[in-house]
Formats: sequence, C-alpha cells, structure tokens
Amino acid sequence: MNLREADFCIVGAGYAGLTAAYRLKQAGYTVVVVEARERIGGRVWTKYLTDGTPVDMGGTFFGPGQDRAYALAKEMGCETTPTPNKGDSGLMYKGKFHRYKGLIPDLDVLSLASVWASFQLLSAMSKQVPPEAPWTAEKAREWDSMTLAHWIDNPIHALTEPAKVMITALMMGLFTCHPSEVSFLSVLFHIAAAGNDIELQLKVEGGAEQDMVKGGMISIANKVAEKLGDCFVFESPVRAIAYDEHGVTVVSDKVTVKAKRVVVCAPPNLVDHIQFTPGLPATRAQLLQRMPVGRTIKFVAVYEEAFWRKDGLSGEVAAPDEALSISLDTSPPNNTVGTITSFCMGPPAVRLAELSAEERKTLCLKALMQRYGARAAAPVQYFEHDWGADPWTRGCHMAHFAPGILTNFAHVIRQPVGPIHWATTETSMYWNGNIDGAIRSGERAATELIEATKQAAADTYPYASSHQPIN
Ligand SMILES: Cc1cc2nc3c(=O)[nH]c(=O)nc-3n(C[C@H](O)[C@H](O)[C@H](O)COP(=O)(O)OP(=O)(O)OC[C@H]3O[C@@H](n4cnc5c(N)ncnc54)[C@H](O)[C@@H]3O)c2cc1C
Repeated sequence: MNLREADFCIVGAGYAGLTAAYRLKQAGYTVVVVEARERIGGRVWTKYLTDGTPVDMGGTFFGPGQDRAYALAKEMGCETTPTPNKGDSGLMYKGKFHRYKGLIPDLDVLSLASVWASFQLLSAMSKQVPPEAPWTAEKAREWDSMTLAHWIDNPIHALTEPAKVMITALMMGLFTCHPSEVSFLSVLFHIAAAGNDIELQLKVEGGAEQDMVKGGMISIANKVAEKLGDCFVFESPVRAIAYDEHGVTVVSDKVTVKAKRVVVCAPPNLVDHIQFTPGLPATRAQLLQRMPVGRTIKFVAVYEEAFWRKDGLSGEVAAPDEALSISLDTSPPNNTVGTITSFCMGPPAVRLAELSAEERKTLCLKALMQRYGARAAAPVQYFEHDWGADPWTRGCHMAHFAPGILTNFAHVIRQPVGPIHWATTETSMYWNGNIDGAIRSGERAATELIEATKQAAADTYPYASSHQPIN
C-alpha cells in the first residue's frame, strides 16, 4: 500500500481544492491533493491550439463582484483581458436573425418590457434572501415549495409568449436545466449570492462574462499548482474516507493518505459515490443525494480571423428557441484566430448528446452559418465537450436545488462532519456556481482547518500553535 501522511488531505484539484491546499501550505501545513483526473482544474479545462492559443472548454469568464477570482489572478501574476464584445448583438428567433444593441434582445415592446420587469422583480425579491442562510428568509417555505417554471408561467411575469421563451432560455443558461427542475427560492438565493442583480450574471460588459484570463482560465490554477509543488496524486479517485477523533484515512486508487483533517472538494453529486466510515450523518447524506447537476455541451469553432467583426457584429447571439442558445466571441486578445463559443444547456443538451459527434457538428455549424454567414461553415478547428458525459463532473455548470431542499436539508451544507470539511462552488455563499465561488469555498475551508487545528493545539498545550492564520 502506498501510504502518505500529511497535516491535511484535499480531495479534488479544481479551483476549490487548489485554493484550499495553497492557503493551507501558506499557513505552514503539509497537504496531499488527491485528484481523480490526470489534470488539475476540474470544471475549468483549457485546451491549446498548435500555436499555443488557449481554448477554454469549461469555466472561462469572470466579472465585477467576483473579487476573490480577481485577487487570486493578481496574486498569481495572471492578467485578465476583456471578453471581445464590440458591435451589435444578435437574436435568432423563429429562424430569423435580428441585430440589436444592449442587454435585452430586440423583441416587441411589450415582450421587452415584460422581460425587463421580471428581471427587476427577481432582483428586488432576492434582497429578502440572505445568501449565508437562504432557508431563513421570511418567505423561504413558500418560495421553496414552488418551481421557477411555476413563477414564469404566471402571465404577470411573462406577458407574452416571446417574453416567456426569453426568460426560460436565460434561466436555462443560468441553471443548465429546465426551470421546472429548480426551486424558486434557489433562484432568489443565486441572485442574492451574486449581488442582487440578475443582469450581472447575464451581461458581458459589466457582468459575469466581462473578462477572460490571458493564456486561458487554467493559467491561474497552473500557477497555484506550481507553488504547491509535489503534493499531487493524479488519476487516483478517492473511494473511501474513514474518520474518527484522531483524524482521517483517505483511500484512493493509488495512495492512502493519513491526515488530521480532509477537505472534500469533489462536486456533491460525486461525493455520494465515496464510502464514508462511519456513515455520514443522515441529513448530510440525504443532502448529497439531492443536489443534481444540469447539463451543458460546449462547442468551440476556431476560424482564421474574427470575420463577424467586419460586419459590425460583436459575436454575441442569443437563440432562445434553438439548441445552441448562446454564442459568444471568445477570440484571444492578440486576434491570431477568431473563436466562437456556443452553449447547449438543459434538456436540449440531453437530446443533442444522443446524436453522433458528426451530427452534432453539422447542427452546430448550421446554426453558426445562420448567425454569422457562410464563412462560419468552415472552422479551422472545432471542439466540443459534453460535461454530462464527463465521469468526474457528470453535469454542469453546478448543482441546483429542487423544491424543498434548501429549506429542509441545506442548513448542513458547510457543516464539517468531525474532521471532514466541505468545499466546491456549490458550498459558497457568494458567486455560488462560479469559479469565484469555488475559490471562496476553498479559502473558507482552509480557514476552518487552521482554526480547528489551533483550537486543538490550544486544548492540548498551554500556548496556541505557531501557525498563523491567513488574511
Ligand atoms: C462549460 C462550463 C462553463 C462554465 N463557465 C463558467 C464561467 O464562464 N465563469 C465561471 O465563473 N464559472 C463557469 N463555470 C463553472 C465553474 O467552472 C465551476 O463553478 C468551478 O470550476 C467549480 O470548481 P470546483 O473546484 O468547485 O469544482 P470542480 O472544478 O468540479 O473540481 C472538483 C474536482 O474534484 C475531482 N474529483 C471528483 N471526484 C473525485 C474523487 N472521488 N476523488 C478525487 N477527485 C475527485 C474532479 O476531477 C475535479 O477536478 C462553467 C462550468 C462549465 C462546465
């Protein structure tokens, strides 16, 4: 048996796990990071063209309010670059392409007003939901007993059919599942966790898609991993965690780690596959069974140049009634190539996954031709990734809460179980579901471990541990 000992073990090398490990190392502790894949990054995965141009297949953007993501980028010496977005946006609706300026596509006035009013209402209602404990909101039970679809179905909230189609598509973009799968309270929580303004999550300039990272989103993670050095064990899924008052034994395919504490930084839907001894407390175990994940297939088409800009198009196209509901220009800042990234999310992604790769490519390029013209038919490179088929994610972008889960189970979401602590973006109070949320969760978990260790030392010795807390 390959046995390693360390102060702490980290399960999963996504942004949550990497940040937790790094903050613990900075505080003077030893860590072992056990990762199922052969790479770091988890839901962030940057591929490279032969000339080194990065192509992000997973998490790509951040924007205002995502302070911990910007702070980590700065700390690691990584630069951000604005997401290209100059020019008119496009709306594909009922097979026709419309150009427009601004955030909300060019629908008829009543539909436009209805979408705008619904956004204002959702943002205002989110102020009644504390992101630290959404289950304590005064109307938590009422809102958690209905779905987002139920709210949208109310004609007051979507006055016209196009407004309903648009709101549904935008929400499917946020949750990557149908609104009938999501608790209305969880929608308000998600907005509250991201600055009480739903537009922040939908906008490029001034919103969550404002910036990309030079060299690709994995660059920051690479720098963190460099600083962590030789503490990784790759291609070694954790299968079992045994724990008692003396510590944890983490059993993975290649290594068994003995440590004082462990931070589990694997997505909740996969944590349920790890065998815990003794078994987890019932509410924690049942919460893990109740955090399903949406579905996303991401498509990236690479062209010799960003030719759509010559037509005055920003590249941003919303297509609420099509399978690929969003396309964006994600070309690198030096414009060596032009890149269009498209997303297929929720039920359409489930259907597209059943086609062959060739059929999906044909469908994708046909959609891009309708949006950008004939040149879109011939990308120099083309990539797709179905995150639902990826065994170490099994869905994306994040876990969501169906009705009844936030109010009945989620109060234990961050509660340690003895020496077992929990991170991943799903556990974050702020920017839950985003890279920023993952980083925050890793930092929070590291602080918990440091404090618990100091407390244990203070209980044992007359003087507290010499380890200094971060921040
Ligand atoms: C297509 C797509 C687009 C996105 N776009 C954006 C965006 O533009 N901006 C943004 O902020 N966010 C975006 N996100 C979300 C963002 O990527 C995630 O919120 C974030 O990366 C989650 O990080 P994490 O560390 O919490 O979890 P993960 O990245 O999922 O990391 C968990 C790690 O645990 C590992 N693991 C799982 N099971 C085990 C096991 N048993 N043993 C050991 N290791 C295990 C996994 O391999 C993985 O490396 C996107 C996600 C996707 C998929």
